[in-house]
Amino acid sequence: MRFYRDLGLTEFYRRPVDPALLVRMPAQPEPIQEPMSSGELQSSNPEDSPIAPRKPIFAPPQAAAAVPASGRVAALQMIRDDLGDCTRCALHTGRNKLVFADGDPNAQLMFVGEGPGADEDAQGLPFVGKAGQLLNNMITAMGLKREQVYIANVVKCRPPGNRTPEPDEANTCSPFLFRQIDVVRPRVLVALGATAATYLLGARQPLAGLRGRVHPFRGTQLIVTYHPAYLLRDPRQKKEAWADLQIAMKELGLKPPAKS
Ligand code: SF4
Repeated sequence: MRFYRDLGLTEFYRRPVDPALLVRMPAQPEPIQEPMSSGELQSSNPEDSPIAPRKPIFAPPQAAAAVPASGRVAALQMIRDDLGDCTRCALHTGRNKLVFADGDPNAQLMFVGEGPGADEDAQGLPFVGKAGQLLNNMITAMGLKREQVYIANVVKCRPPGNRTPEPDEANTCSPFLFRQIDVVRPRVLVALGATAATYLLGARQPLAGLRGRVHPFRGTQLIVTYHPAYLLRDPRQKKEAWADLQIAMKELGLKPPAKS
């Protein structure tokens, strides 16, 4: 099946999930407010440490009350209306289209990425370029359709040159993401890459220490994996990403579709 070949899973996808990967974290990690030394952020994997040191990462706000399924479309529209033609951070200056989200407001599975790229900025939709195609393949490999999940980013406007969002930009935009998460309230939330994991958890931590576990988070189960753009640069990590997605599937009670 093409999806599995694209993910590098031709021999891998039937492998059962290691029970050790399903261990839940006892508690959400404490936010790190103190600056970290650059040495703490060093890693052989660049996905582990893209956030500039010595700038504070805000702790997530308290989760809002659950919204009934019948009210989620309107609640998300209210968030979009609150954003308006947003100029709250510097990223608005280079924006073509603000990228709010895509997908089912009642999704059981939500993905959070870093921010829009050129294709997303042009179309106003998240994950529609090459990385988006890989994400679509990952979703299909899980036995789902893109329309069945909800996809958003930490920042809703494209950083210049696709750079990592600055902490003040991400801290300004992420409250809207938290409101979206609280409305959709998926059973499983997948953070795609270190930037998403950092601003969701409110703490800088190497990706390696966050992957392979379920983190109870705002009424959902958070799973951290690599960003599809990183997987395009280093396809050897696709098997690792698939192991993370299998944890998500276990939480959702999903089995991979049969190979055709
Ligand atoms: Fe507003 Fe977010 Fe865009 Fe910044 S990135 S201008 S906070 S919508």
